[in-house]
Amino acid sequence: MALRLETEIMYLKGVGPKLGELFSRKGLKNLKDLIEFYPRAYEDQRAARNIASLKPDDIVSIKATVVAVHSANMGRSARKMYDVVLRDSSGQIHCKYFRVPYKGYFERFKPLTEVRVVGKVTDYRNRIEFHHPDIRDIEPDEETKDALIPLYTEIEGLATAKIMKLVRLAFAQIEEWPEEVFPKWMMAKYELRPRQEALKEIHNPLPAKSAEYFQFKSSAQKRVIFEEFFWLELYLASRKTGLQKKDAPKIKNAGNLLDQIEKSLPFAMTGAQKRVLSEIKEDLAAGHPMHRLIQGDVGSGKTLVSFMAALTTIESQYQACLMAPTEILAEQHYKNAKKVLVPLGVRLGLLVGKTKAAERKVLLAALQEGQIDLIIGTHALIEDEVQFAQLGMVIIDEQHRFGVEQRGILKNKGNSPHFLVMTATPIPRTLAMTVYGDLDVSVIDEMPPGRSPIQTRAIFENKRPQALQFMLEQIQKGRQAYFVYPLVEESEKIDLKDAVSEYEKLQLQFPNVKVGLLHGKMKSDEKDKVMEQFRRNEIQVLVSTTVIEVGVDVPNANIMLIEHAERFGLSQLHQLRGRVGRGEHKSFCILIMGYAVSEEGKQRTEMMEKTSDGFKIAEFDLEMRGPGEFMGTKQSGLAGFKLANLVRDMQILQDARAAAFEVLKRDPKLIFNDHQGLKAELLREHGPTALAGIA
Ligand code: ADP
Ligand code: MG
Repeated sequence: MALRLETEIMYLKGVGPKLGELFSRKGLKNLKDLIEFYPRAYEDQRAARNIASLKPDDIVSIKATVVAVHSANMGRSARKMYDVVLRDSSGQIHCKYFRVPYKGYFERFKPLTEVRVVGKVTDYRNRIEFHHPDIRDIEPDEETKDALIPLYTEIEGLATAKIMKLVRLAFAQIEEWPEEVFPKWMMAKYELRPRQEALKEIHNPLPAKSAEYFQFKSSAQKRVIFEEFFWLELYLASRKTGLQKKDAPKIKNAGNLLDQIEKSLPFAMTGAQKRVLSEIKEDLAAGHPMHRLIQGDVGSGKTLVSFMAALTTIESQYQACLMAPTEILAEQHYKNAKKVLVPLGVRLGLLVGKTKAAERKVLLAALQEGQIDLIIGTHALIEDEVQFAQLGMVIIDEQHRFGVEQRGILKNKGNSPHFLVMTATPIPRTLAMTVYGDLDVSVIDEMPPGRSPIQTRAIFENKRPQALQFMLEQIQKGRQAYFVYPLVEESEKIDLKDAVSEYEKLQLQFPNVKVGLLHGKMKSDEKDKVMEQFRRNEIQVLVSTTVIEVGVDVPNANIMLIEHAERFGLSQLHQLRGRVGRGEHKSFCILIMGYAVSEEGKQRTEMMEKTSDGFKIAEFDLEMRGPGEFMGTKQSGLAGFKLANLVRDMQILQDARAAAFEVLKRDPKLIFNDHQGLKAELLREHGPTALAGIA
């Protein structure tokens, strides 16, 4: 049998069903999977260094002896941090792990074991250490003749040296390789090596280029990284090209109502709001459907911009709809719209889950007859019975709360309506362009004037009494406070109990203060009631889980205390904090950390103290946790990269995106001979619909 990439691993000579099964359990089925199981790092055996000579950011390989392995709990969760202490004749170094690579990983590092370590030296508070380095035993049969060897993520029972041997076996035995799929012009323009050659080199690195491999900058790695990005970008580019060919509702750029609304505002629009609005106007004039995302920090004034976009649509005799993720938020938008839009003659509707049947019937009939211009609501808007006379624009607030299908259903209620989504989860610009690949991105990067920055302090539990005292002083000055409690899924019951008992304790501690409780298990009318009481200042302290995260606007609330802050992600902390600092009063955010907070957790809370810039926070979060944790990355196909890394390889990502768009510009229907490989790959990955836009 001639071996090909599609051949199962067990047919490799020297492998067999038992080994094959091991790989298969890890999702590696055929030889293509094996070859795309790329080294995690490389080890230059000539360049071994001693510990005393290490400097921050060096990527190095050292030989050392295990002193001890320590572990400690991280926060209250069951997760542990591991610390492997190593020494050589020159000194000691700590290797820290915030995740366990696999069960039993640390058990083999008994004191006095000789190991090799490869990793990047990190500076932590003026001390050097490794975070998540590769540590492995020095094996007796190790191939010491290679000066530079690839290191693989170990598969249970299979050491990295063994995996290297198997991969090399595969290269030796595969007889039929597929043809190069990239067109020649692209390979020349972006300096890309042929695929097969690059793959081989990744597993058989050239010692002379060791520094390049360490940094993932070798031409072989670049080819593969480029390719991983390129397939995603080509798909996104084809979707976008498809959109541009559709006819959109014609929006006349009259703008009379826009002038009126601007004049009626008690404030001036910020420069950023004006800029984004003009970007929207350009879209609307372009003839094809707008497909735009507005990113802006909490409180940056996205709502107003979306109202103005809706208004242009309405002025051209089309309807608009605005969908928000919660009833609280939908009602808040409705109230605002009543103030701002109704005086201009806009006919408004509100549809949420609790809208009564009789009322709903009247509303939906009016909508269908075109007697409502703007309908605001929750996902109740998605239901079949909601029909428009002429839907011209779909607006979605906090879009990451909705799935792709939900957005699609809403869009299909019109004939290629304009589409505007908003998010307060800032994503670094470069990442946004890929996460939201087929959307154009506008950024409101300026806050309305007169907001004083929120003062943030992280403290340990023992300072809670002082924090509560401070909170009480603010309340006595007439302010209101949030008290936020985390809810972590796996222990939701216990956490909820904690939130409830904290609420009871607070009532005792603040005898003359009204304390309210809000959590996700409450019925929606109960939630609304509490929220309304808080808004009217009938409640001064709101104890809540993260349900208040999105959009709530109570300007008199100026202090937030977050319990177990180390259990929240940075972006989430930032969103929560955005609930305060919305009025004229100086605002405060107090982050309370458990004693068992991890180093990573501490760094996160320090970041929160230092900056209130959502984009800086997002970038830091991206670096710390990788793109996998970002909202929306899973559904966008960003999770599946094998070698590419969105932070490290940003430049390659930009090139790959440019290349993808260039392909469709040169050959919009992918009919050229040397583009047939691209077309086939697109079809294989995404099915026939991938070509719907371009065919
Ligand atoms: P977000 O971007 O978080 O959705 P909102 O649209 O809710 O922010 O706006 C927050 C608050 O700021 C609202 O009360 C809104 O009326 C107010 N606002 C919006 N634009 C301006 C502006 N240019 N100047 C002053 N206040 C503004
Ligand atoms: Mg908002």
